[in-house]
Amino acid sequence: MSPDLPSPLIVDVAVIGGGPAGLMAAEVLSRAGLSVHLFDRMPSVGRKFLLAGKGGMNLTHAEALSAFVGRYGTHAERLRPLLDTFGPQAVRDWAAGLGISTFVGSSQRVFPVDMKAAPLLRAWLHRLRHPSGDGAPVVFHMRHRWIGWDEQGASLQFESPHGALQVQARATVLALGGASWARLGSDGAWLPPLQAAGVDVAPLLPSNCGFEVAGGWSTFFRERFAGQPFKSVGIRATDSLGQSFQRKGEFVATETGVEGSLLYAASSLLRDEIARKGQATFELDLLPDRHAEQVLAHVAHPRGSRSLSSHLKSRLGLDGIKMAIVNELVEKDAMHDPVRLAAALKGLPITLKATRPINEAISTAGGVRWEALDAGLMVKARPGLFCAGEMLDWEAPTGGYLLTACLASGVAAGEGVRQWLSTSAPA
Ligand SMILES: Cc1cc2nc3c(=O)[nH]c(=O)nc-3n(C[C@H](O)[C@H](O)[C@H](O)COP(=O)(O)OP(=O)(O)OC[C@H]3O[C@@H](n4cnc5c(N)ncnc54)[C@H](O)[C@@H]3O)c2cc1C
Repeated sequence: MSPDLPSPLIVDVAVIGGGPAGLMAAEVLSRAGLSVHLFDRMPSVGRKFLLAGKGGMNLTHAEALSAFVGRYGTHAERLRPLLDTFGPQAVRDWAAGLGISTFVGSSQRVFPVDMKAAPLLRAWLHRLRHPSGDGAPVVFHMRHRWIGWDEQGASLQFESPHGALQVQARATVLALGGASWARLGSDGAWLPPLQAAGVDVAPLLPSNCGFEVAGGWSTFFRERFAGQPFKSVGIRATDSLGQSFQRKGEFVATETGVEGSLLYAASSLLRDEIARKGQATFELDLLPDRHAEQVLAHVAHPRGSRSLSSHLKSRLGLDGIKMAIVNELVEKDAMHDPVRLAAALKGLPITLKATRPINEAISTAGGVRWEALDAGLMVKARPGLFCAGEMLDWEAPTGGYLLTACLASGVAAGEGVRQWLSTSAPA
């Protein structure tokens, strides 16, 4: 047990997991004056939150709330009440309350003015440790890995550098994240103890992930073009259920396939189709700003003694990785048939055979099913146990939707605990 802690440690509320969801639940509860102990297996909290800040912390999105909620797809109706309570504007107000101004960037994404996560996290942790008014300071326990409950299901069990610790809490919030980027703390190891406790969990799957192309790239393409971006392209995909995706944007060729924002946006459709059919195909539009007839006219234009590559470069601006993928995937006889070649430039089929491993994904789909929870995010089968964040069964594209739903579910779980403690929980 920890040298300075009694075991069992008796607390009002244990929050396990110090990502945005757990920190937000802790904030709601500390503001209500409850004694909150927050445990995390890592040496410091918010590691994925900080990483999210590396490429520009996209906190939320400024589109209308109805469109915003729609981004959560089949889980939108479950998340709607949470986002009605703590939606995109509330996220911006909350950041402002921590001294962090935000701005609306391109495509309506919302960022802190300095684009960084660290100042926001620093101010947040300071407020959690030193709350104003009647707030109770949150007590942090780092390097404490939750491993489940004791045999009676009464005490939370932790491994810590000082040995085992048991904690008895009137209420517990689990905010343990998904199963990607395990080195930052979230490894999905919470799944077996929760399932053993009778909690219904949908399998964890990669979301906003890369894919492997069927058959792999040729050595030439891989060695020359892995890591290079396809810019200003479009992709279209329709799955066997008739659902389709179409968007312009960019993505990157990898050693084994493709990844990047455009693929992330299509990832749930492509992933689910691979699960159903063993593969999924999308069509790559290399010239999304030109009509098919225009492309055909340019391809068919007499090229004299010029090579096909220089012809396509001079007439259509195709070169680099765009020309390389044409050489890689278009059959030899189609290269000399203007109609087939023009069709390929506007819709080159690329077949995917697998997602990249979940550990590499930006986020995780699956998790604790909504049916297992009440409106306050309490596990119905286990009164006093609440869940929040990415470990719940939802997914969303990148664009600030992930953090917003994590924060909103942290608020909901914190409120759920507060209400439950005030009405039904034994003191
Ligand atoms: C590269 C990258 C960039 C991203 N960029 C953005 C972005 O710009 N905008 C956006 O909206 N989203 C972004 N995301 C997603 C976003 O960071 C996550 O959705 C969010 O952090 C999830 O919050 P969470 O609190 O549910 O879980 P996490 O942030 O994963 O936190 C979970 C915490 O639980 C702890 N934990 C796990 N298991 C245990 C255990 N057994 N015992 C004790 N502690 C445990 C972990 O150590 C961790 O601290 C990005 C993700 C990645 C990987």
